[in-house]
Amino acid sequence: MNYRDYLDFSREELLEKVASSMSEKRFRHVLRVERAALELAERYDCDATKASLAALLHDVAKEVEDAVFLRLIDQEKLDPDLKKWGNNIWHGVVGAYLISSEFGLQDQEILQAIQRHTVGSADMTVLDEVLYVADYIEPGRDFPGVDKARSIAKESLDKAVAFETAQTVAHLAKKAIPIYPQTIETYNAYVGYLKN
Ligand code: GDP
Ligand code: FE
Ligand code: FE
Repeated sequence: MNYRDYLDFSREELLEKVASSMSEKRFRHVLRVERAALELAERYDCDATKASLAALLHDVAKEVEDAVFLRLIDQEKLDPDLKKWGNNIWHGVVGAYLISSEFGLQDQEILQAIQRHTVGSADMTVLDEVLYVADYIEPGRDFPGVDKARSIAKESLDKAVAFETAQTVAHLAKKAIPIYPQTIETYNAYVGYLKN
């Protein structure tokens, strides 16, 4: 994979930098997400280099301290309501800003896919959907419904987004965990795909 259009790193340097930002366990997840994203990219005609980069970088902000995100929300003049959330939401939605500056990544499509990888959006691009679904179905995941998600992902990417979002919303609601408004927007925009 050649990243020269997007980054000043070789693949080797990139992997080293990503690995040093997270636990070994999480780095293995990231590599599995990349494989899953490349398979989906091939099936659904998405740029493989962008899918690879989005996947490799998607969880780079997962082990960043809360104080860093709180500062960034002010610095980037993001919606102050974001401060009520936590790392689960911040590592993508706010993490994309950190990743952009740390890696010198300017490509807005890749940054948007990273931003949306946890909460989705009502109007996702194929790249956004590829990362969102790959993160959920990578072979290391083991939760109820994951095999169904894997088989739907072979049939329809939109339906896979719908299924994943419905499962996530139900899981969070069952545990009385607040649901980020954009997650609900994703659910409403995609739920119709589950009817056919
Ligand atoms: P990971 O970073 O590879 O573990 O996967 P994700 O970035 O997709 O999700 C991180 C966590 O955020 C998971 O535990 C999800 O259940 C949780 N999550 C997803 N959507 C929402 C939401 O709308 N609200 C809250 N509070 N958590 C969410
Ligand atoms: Fe994540
Ligand atoms: Fe992930």
